[in-house]
Amino acid sequence: MKEEAEKVRRGVIAAVVRHAREALPTECCGLLLGDEGGVGEAVRTRNATDDPSRFVIDPADHIARRREARDRGLSVRGFYHSHPRSAAVPSATDREEAAYPGHLYLIVGLASDPPDLGLYQFDAGNFHQVPFVTVD
Ligand SMILES: [Zn+2]
Repeated sequence: MKEEAEKVRRGVIAAVVRHAREALPTECCGLLLGDEGGVGEAVRTRNATDDPSRFVIDPADHIARRREARDRGLSVRGFYHSHPRSAAVPSATDREEAAYPGHLYLIVGLASDPPDLGLYQFDAGNFHQVPFVTVD
């Protein structure tokens, strides 16, 4: 696990919060693109479930967005999703369904205003909180 804070562009936070609000009452989801220097971009994907308490990144969107990122020289650093009525803490469902070790998981919790934001890394079956700073 990295010790230094992850750098996340301010625009990423704004885009994720906007998507989370538009997706209410369901969860939104998408990919976090960037490089070793940080997370520079959030791209939306459809949520393939209408269950309001989980998200499933639409597989076709996942493949297409991943390919576009690679073509632009960016990598998929991780994923984001929202919690419409709770805090930005990974749920039991999130833990059961997370499948990408080493990836970042950004959660936006809309239970509070301003929204709660939590960044985690998934490793060895668990989420570990990652400190982050927003950069321009
Ligand atoms: Zn969740």
